[in-house]
Amino acid sequence: MAATYYVQECPTCGRNLQVRVEYLGKRVVCQHCKAKFEACDPSSAAYPPSESSLSLLARADQLIESATRSSLSTITRSAI
Ligand SMILES: [Zn+2]
Repeated sequence: MAATYYVQECPTCGRNLQVRVEYLGKRVVCQHCKAKFEACDPSSAAYPPSESSLSLLARADQLIESATRSSLSTITRSAI
């Protein structure tokens, strides 16, 4: 499985945290200062509510799947 983390700066202590993508839009706790804040991916233009973060994950899965499939067919072709 590909890494499903993104880096978000803690709004309280300013340290970079690795936040699981599945926590997007949810409240997370900073490991350093224990501050609670809402997880949001700053690299995405629109702040994703929980529904669209699911479709983002689905899109990523499709990309991985198609990449896997194309490399698989290459292997199959060269094997034959
Ligand atoms: Zn913090």
